[in-house]
Amino acid sequence: MVLPNEPEFKQAYNELVSALEDSTLFSQSPEYKKVIPVVSIPERIIQFRVTWENDKGEIEVNNGFRVQFNSALGPYKGGLRFHPTVNLSILKFLGFEQIFKNALTGLSMGGGKGGSDFNPKGRSDNEIRRFCTAFMRQLARYIGADTDVPAGDIGVGGREVGYMFGAYKQMQNNWSGILTGKGLTWGGSLIRPEATGYGLVYYVEKMIEKATNGKETFKGKKVAISGSGNVAQYAALKVIELGGIVVSLSDSKGAIISESGITPDQIAEIGSAKLKHKSLHEIISASVFTQGGKASVEYIEGARPWVHVGQVDVALPSATQNEVSGDEAKALIQNGCKFIAEGSNMGSTKEAIDVFEESRSKDVWYAPGKASNAGGVAVSGLEMAQNSQRVQWTTEEVDSKLKTIMYECFDNCYETAVKYSADKNSEGLPSLLKGANIAGFIKVADAMFSQGDVF
Ligand code: GLU
Repeated sequence: MVLPNEPEFKQAYNELVSALEDSTLFSQSPEYKKVIPVVSIPERIIQFRVTWENDKGEIEVNNGFRVQFNSALGPYKGGLRFHPTVNLSILKFLGFEQIFKNALTGLSMGGGKGGSDFNPKGRSDNEIRRFCTAFMRQLARYIGADTDVPAGDIGVGGREVGYMFGAYKQMQNNWSGILTGKGLTWGGSLIRPEATGYGLVYYVEKMIEKATNGKETFKGKKVAISGSGNVAQYAALKVIELGGIVVSLSDSKGAIISESGITPDQIAEIGSAKLKHKSLHEIISASVFTQGGKASVEYIEGARPWVHVGQVDVALPSATQNEVSGDEAKALIQNGCKFIAEGSNMGSTKEAIDVFEESRSKDVWYAPGKASNAGGVAVSGLEMAQNSQRVQWTTEEVDSKLKTIMYECFDNCYETAVKYSADKNSEGLPSLLKGANIAGFIKVADAMFSQGDVF
């Protein structure tokens, strides 16, 4: 199959296809091969112009997109990303990943992704509101609670979802669950902001338990985390709650490293700074980052954390795609890292994945984002269910459902890896990379056969 010249999409496609080909799936069930060329083309792509007015009264223009990739399992579902790097290759890779991730949640959701090359950094709240309204003016006619339900991603959080929801409601005269990640007092789900980070840690809990026959937990483990947005913040808080030590966080300008562990107070400070698009560098002089008059964290400009963290047990890339290189993967393993799980989408380069997968025989275990970060969209699915019933579940109810979904997602990846493993006799842990890709793919493929999308 000839793929368009879209590097990130090609990378995501190759990850899936090589995981399938390097297993016994096609020898056991050759008909699944027919699904690949069909599932790799989006059902529909919408591309539109967004013009809006900045604070100086001038016109600005951006590209807007929605990739409606696959609706075999439910309405298209996936976030919106506002970032200057957004283009069709990025959104197609994200949409493609989302199809199989959503399948792994066990909930009824298809896959999609959208966004804009609008850069929210340095924009006033009024500019963000005007941009969101202009964006929704174009998107509104293509979405719906049973058609396509966007949510947040990089650059889109509760504030942006609120402005877009308001714009939709005014235009369509219709209050329905057309977006997830809504405010908690108006249709949002408890635990949705925490869900991706918490879910990531729940998934890794199971990895640790399985790999050590229940002998070890997060307690006392050193955990390197990258990123400082919503995923990284809540992953860090959950690691701390479970007794782990978070030794790093980062943003696009640099990394902070803390031998003794980043504290919940520091994470709260980072959380409020990030809402204002401030960099870590701008806030590390705040009092929560000093102890006895001395800096309690080290700041490394222009760096990602991986080669700077020293000995760690767990690494959770939670910033953006391709944020771990082959050399960084090697450095992590040399420093004793045993568990790597992505909070970001496609956080590891192909070279890094090869390093991790080759190290399974040395008890190194890697989980791809489409499994380990599925908690966010899972709670989005629970938000849709609550909206349909016009109810709101308690924190405990949502958190326990999230935990069950992540634990079952792990079991599904593990069992599928064992079932379709082509290298059964080789030593090492089963490949969660293969398990996640095969399990997600089979679920979508079976629905596509049943619905006549493939025959
Ligand atoms: N952007 C998140 C993801 O990558 C969540 C999407 C959603 O909740 O629809 O899975």
